[in-house]
Parts: sequence; structure tokens; C-alpha cells
Amino acid sequence: MTSALDTLRRDFGGDIIEPGDAGYEAAARSRLVAGSPAYVLRPKAVADVQAAVRFASGSGLALSVRGGGHGFAGFGTNDGGIVIDLGALAGVEVVDGGAPAGDGTHLVRIGGGATWGQVADALAPHGLAISSGDTRSVGVGGLTLSGGMGWKVRRYGLALDSLVAAQLVTADGAVVTASADEHPDLFWAIRGGGGNFGVVTSFEFAAHPTTRVFFGKVSFPATEAAAVLQGWADYLRTAPEELTSIANLANPFAGGPEAPVEIHVAFDGDDADAAEQALAPIRRLGTVVADDVELMAYADVLVEGATPPPGVHVLAHDGLVDQKSVPEALRILAEAGTSSGSPSIAVRSLGGAMSRVPGDATAYAHRQAELMVTTFTGGPAPVIEAHRPALDALWDRLAPHLDGAYANFLSTADETDVTSVYPEPTYERLATVKRRYDPSNLFARNHNVRPGQMS
Ligand SMILES: Cc1cc2nc3c(=O)[nH]c(=O)nc-3n(C[C@H](O)[C@H](O)[C@H](O)COP(=O)(O)OP(=O)(O)OC[C@H]3O[C@@H](n4cnc5c(N)ncnc54)[C@H](O)[C@@H]3O)c2cc1C
Repeated sequence: MTSALDTLRRDFGGDIIEPGDAGYEAAARSRLVAGSPAYVLRPKAVADVQAAVRFASGSGLALSVRGGGHGFAGFGTNDGGIVIDLGALAGVEVVDGGAPAGDGTHLVRIGGGATWGQVADALAPHGLAISSGDTRSVGVGGLTLSGGMGWKVRRYGLALDSLVAAQLVTADGAVVTASADEHPDLFWAIRGGGGNFGVVTSFEFAAHPTTRVFFGKVSFPATEAAAVLQGWADYLRTAPEELTSIANLANPFAGGPEAPVEIHVAFDGDDADAAEQALAPIRRLGTVVADDVELMAYADVLVEGATPPPGVHVLAHDGLVDQKSVPEALRILAEAGTSSGSPSIAVRSLGGAMSRVPGDATAYAHRQAELMVTTFTGGPAPVIEAHRPALDALWDRLAPHLDGAYANFLSTADETDVTSVYPEPTYERLATVKRRYDPSNLFARNHNVRPGQMS
């Protein structure tokens, strides 16, 4: 290890942080999960990532690759291993010299450790945006590599649907470009297969022109939850694709089971009449108790993510719902969300542009899902354990009505989760690509695909 460490120190131009060093405590943890890695490596250039990957590969230690560090499963850190923290690779650059593609998009290059807040701020002066997520501090890396459901998902699809190319450092330390023309198998795999295939040092996206958007929430009494949710889902099926929406129930900061049902809306456009028309059916869903929808800059729509205090854990779980199961799933959620002991529940409407991409075009396979259900439970370990029976009971009831899961809102990554994230044909194809680019499974801290056997 000493000579490997000497080689790393010689070749690595970034920061190497070890236990006892100044800043180690903060560097060791990912945003949601504490850790005690032996080395946190902060590359400043692609060559540093190559040196870090070679060091990790020879060390036999666990390797975490950290983008924005927001993964619920805590893959962005570990105990006793190596963390490659990409936070210094965060450049955002419009690279087409102002010449849009035929569809009006502009090519944007983004460092593998950038956050969506950095992207939104950098693109706002150009009048551009990328369909991403709802939170500034979430990483472009983790969100994109597994999907990316944000406030433009019904209009422009998942974040990975806007990806044009990526540069990766693979397990052997090589720098590889993945795109439709170069390493197309890898390009397919990184659009849904998470961090299984290498360290993405930069992403190239097709960014869309954006105006200001109508954004806010329309709230209804908890007692109307069942009718509001069903009406909401029915309407979203035919609503304009400029409208993306999330329904929240049982918000712990607004009364838990008595909290209003909040229908969060983003209308992607600044035409007040069109927005009014799109939002009118939402406002007719029940007795409106609050309505704060207003026109704002897209960059202002994204919220800052909170870092939980030491000892506080966040348990997230999700499942995808196809059209046929929507009524029953929503009935169960409305009942659970208004009972005591409910977790916080969020239901995202999908469909639109996302659903028009063929299921095998990318490694994100669940294009048919109409809704994504997520629950969140937070607190010290005893609080989480106290909530677990109600949580398990809710997911047991939902199970027959779910068809797959989305990797990015799962705190767990066991075999069942991996099977839910990747349907069998997707997994088999990913395993073949994994064998080619990471045969020793160096990149294992993710919803892991094991290298396929030679046939
Ligand atoms: C507050 C909050 C809000 C969220 N909102 C949304 C939302 O609106 N929509 C949505 O779809 N998801 C959302 N998510 C989920 C989010 O997409 C996942 O947590 C995602 O994994 C975070 O990515 P990250 O880079 O910040 O995390 P990390 O923990 O750094 O990484 C997560 C995984 O991706 C891998 N990875 C990250 N970057 C790279 C890279 N450059 N190269 C290779 N592998 C990499 C890591 O190794 C790890 O396996 C939210 C999460 C939080 C905590």
C-alpha cells in the first residue's frame, strides 16, 4: 500500500484527506449518511481521477464515487475505504458557441461533480435549462445516471433523456467517451444503470430554452385526500405536458396525518392564460385552502437540500405505478396518509415525453409508469424503528399494485431492490456491458450489477 500511496501522491494533483487531517469530519460524510473512509480523494482534473481509480483498483478497499453526495443509500461514503469526491469538477459551459441544434437545444458540458443549483445558475443567463430534479444541492451525477425526475419531466423527459455524451474513467483508468457514436453500449448503460460503469468526469446535455415558469402549490384539506388524489391523477393523464405535478400528503411539518394535501405544480411557460387554463382543473379538485402559485425564474424553483443533524437518519422508499393500478394505489395512500404514524408521502406524476421513449432505448426501463410513490421517514434510529411497522405495512399493501422501482429514492440496495430497479432483460444487458468495462466490479457502491459470465 505504501508504494501505491507514494504513486498516488506523485500522480494526484488534488487533495488527499485522511483521518486526523483538517476538514476530515466534513469530507468523510455524504450529505445524508456518516462514514469513516481511510482516504477522501478530491480530484481537480481528469488525470487525477485516473490516478485515484488506479489507486483504488490496486488497493482492494471499498470505493465510493461521490457526486453531490445526496444518495439515500449512502453510497457516497464508506468505512475504511476510498471516496473519490468529484465536487471540484463542477464546471458548467455552453459549448456550441450560440448555435442551437435543429430542435432549438444548446449543447452544455457539465463537470461530473456539479450540482443542479450550479447548473441552473450558470444556464439562467443563457435562457436555458435542463430537465433535472427539484433540489439545488443534488448532484448531476447520481440523479442523471439513474434517471432524473424534475419539474420538466413531462415536457422533456428524464434528465438522462437530454444526455448526449459523457466522458468516463473506467475501471482500468482509461478515459472513454460514451455517446450514440462512441461506445454506444456504454452510453445505453449509463442512462439508467447508475454508477456501475466508471467515474463520469463530464456530461454533455442538450439544454432547452426556458422562460420563467408558474410554480407553487394548491392545497386541500386532508379529509378530501382520496377524491383529490384520484381527480389529480385522472387530470394529469390528459393535461398539457408543460404541467408537471407532485402530490404531497402527511407532511410532518404541517400536521402529519392532518396536513393538507399539497398539489405542487410547475407550468413550464410564462403565458398566464395557458397556465390558468392548465391549472383550473387542479383548483377544482376540492376545497382550496391555500394557493401560492406564481411566476418565477426556473432557477428559483429549485430548493436547497437540508443536511440532517448528526444521528438523524432519513429512510426513503419508492415504487412505480402503472395506469391500471393507479386507483387502488391512490386509495391505499389516501387512507394511510391520513392515519396516525404515516410517513411523509410524495406522489410524482410522470407520463408525457418520458413515456414516449421506448423501454429498451436506455437502461431506465420503466417508461410506462404513470406515478412514482415515495415515502420519507426521518429521525434518530429509535424513531425510525418506531415508525417501521407502519411503513412496512404500507409498502406491503402497495406491493401488488407496483411495477418496479426508481433507484434514486431507495435507501436500500438489496437483491429485491436491484430486481425492482432493473427488469430482467435490462439487467442481463447491463451485466454484459459491466463485464466489458468493469469486470472486477470495482464500482460496486450502487444498485449493483454484477459482471455477466462469458457465454
Ligand atoms: C433532498 C433531495 C431531493 C431530491 N430530489 C430529486 C428529484 O427531484 N428528482 C430525482 O429524480 N431525484 C431526486 N433525489 C434523489 C437523487 O436523484 C439521488 O439521491 C441521487 O443519487 C443523488 O445524486 P448525488 O450525485 O447527489 O449523490 P451521490 O450520493 O454522490 O451519488 C449517488 C450514486 O451515484 C453515483 N455517482 C454520482 N456521481 C457520479 C459520477 N459523476 N460518476 C459515476 N458515479 C456517480 C455514486 O457513486 C452513487 O452510487 C433527491 C434526493 C434528495 C436527498
